[in-house]
Amino acid sequence: MRGLMMDRPLLISTILDHAASVFHDREIVTRTVEGPIHRETYAGVANRSKQLANALTDLGIGQGDRVATIAWNTNRHVELYYGVSGMGAVIHTINPRLHPAQMAFVINHAEARILCVDLTFAPLVAKLIDQLPKVERVIYLTDRANMPADALDNGLCYEDLLAAQSTDYRWPEFDENTASALCYTSGTTGDPKGVLYSHRATVLHAFGFSLPSAVPMAESDAMLPVVPQFHVLAWGIPYAAAMNGTKLVMPGPGLDGASLTQLMRDEEVTITAGVPTIWHGLLAHWRQTGETVPSLKRVIIGGSAAPRSMIEAFQDEFGITVLHAWGMTEMSPLGTVSLLKAGMESADADKRFGKLAKQGRPVYGVEMKIVDEHDRPLPHDGTAFGALKVRGPWIASGYYRLDHSDNHDTDGWFDTGDVATMDDDAYMQITDRKKDLIKSGGEWISSIDLENAAMGHPAIAQAAVIGIPDEKWDERPLLAVVKTADATVDADAVRTYLSEKVAKWWLPEQIVFVEALPIGATGKVLKTKLRAAYADGSLSGEGGA
Ligand code: ADP
Repeated sequence: MRGLMMDRPLLISTILDHAASVFHDREIVTRTVEGPIHRETYAGVANRSKQLANALTDLGIGQGDRVATIAWNTNRHVELYYGVSGMGAVIHTINPRLHPAQMAFVINHAEARILCVDLTFAPLVAKLIDQLPKVERVIYLTDRANMPADALDNGLCYEDLLAAQSTDYRWPEFDENTASALCYTSGTTGDPKGVLYSHRATVLHAFGFSLPSAVPMAESDAMLPVVPQFHVLAWGIPYAAAMNGTKLVMPGPGLDGASLTQLMRDEEVTITAGVPTIWHGLLAHWRQTGETVPSLKRVIIGGSAAPRSMIEAFQDEFGITVLHAWGMTEMSPLGTVSLLKAGMESADADKRFGKLAKQGRPVYGVEMKIVDEHDRPLPHDGTAFGALKVRGPWIASGYYRLDHSDNHDTDGWFDTGDVATMDDDAYMQITDRKKDLIKSGGEWISSIDLENAAMGHPAIAQAAVIGIPDEKWDERPLLAVVKTADATVDADAVRTYLSEKVAKWWLPEQIVFVEALPIGATGKVLKTKLRAAYADGSLSGEGGA
């Protein structure tokens, strides 16, 4: 028997309509690329998204067409999210930190017809445009006064386009499984692969993301996503915020500690989200200047493992709770969040931080399992580790324009490429990415565990571990570290410190002090580069135990 409920489609436009009518005066505040602070309301964003939809219609854009962006977190970029998807077209966000050749690859692969760019990236696009035969128009995300002097012949001004249009536009209704957005994985292994999101997945993800047991976002909150809109749709925050009437504070290109701190203070930000690299910078800035953000209550850390020392620092030094989250582009991205289990608030610090440093429990909507090499389920005892597989309504079922995917099992599970444990409280912990695990003498060493242990040393700001070939053991760990400012520490001291934290055979074969670690387009350490540096002899350090 079928239920007698209305079959209303879950469309992204319904989120904006809701925000515009219920939370019409809640704000989106932007530090613009041009400099000044811009204030807009959800009602304003709704009107401008409709003007944009009218303008794109006039430019010949229709359902399913790809409109690409190379842009920071701003109100205009939010308008593009809603305007483009709302009209049934597909927004394709591009990471400007990709290598130009990779950028051209993804734009051509997506066959984007329009490219919207922030002024910062105008020179880049000028160089690239000859390699982009499908791009008909470039829209500069600025006003007439700030248009680049050398704008391309096919260039248009965003504010002029909007000003010429009426706010009279009715969002079309269509199947909720229609494509809404396209993001490419960062391509640290092979060519980037396209993940094609749908309206249904995006709306359900926004529900799941903002649940009280996931990333609670209320109308009274002010959220500053440091995670870029070009990285997995800023983790879906622009949708979750509008759904809940949460004020959005967009940092534009100002991502250094001082700019972020000032904007957070001025706008009384209560939640923020980003990758660990950003928080290293912010914590260092706070310690150096004595500045803090009194309104800030929660920091969402994901994208790479949040070291326990960072979680402790936020809590103990600044009274801010870290929500450690895990996910991936293919998962819209949210999979798990580490919140303290009920009753654990009074547990001792070691137990609490031990739990919080794990990647957390699945949010409703994501099913997870860990399996051995024969796809047999492993026990949830916090020790057994294996391939982490997931399924759910906001997880990709395949890749855009790729017939085959090795990661998608025939029985409907997606192999994340991560190796993990699960404990009896359902907390998942990433041991490593499959390709980063180190096999030493037939046993596995987790590079993440070793990095986290090293980062507990007060003189170590950042750490990365790779496996290096070893005749006797197959592979041994090499630890590359960046010291904190003015710290003095040598390899022996690091090794002595680590020997109290990890098994003796885990102790790094080599410890190398470096000025900086190679960071990729999404703010993660590029272990491929470290391995290459080791192979060509440019990364070597003090010898073993
Ligand atoms: P890419 O795979 O292109 O680097 P993603 O941004 O989708 O792009 O990265 C997803 C991967 O990042 C996950 O599979 C996992 O390995 C890693 N990751 C994300 N969040 C965490 C976390 N909290 N702890 C450890 N690893 C994480």
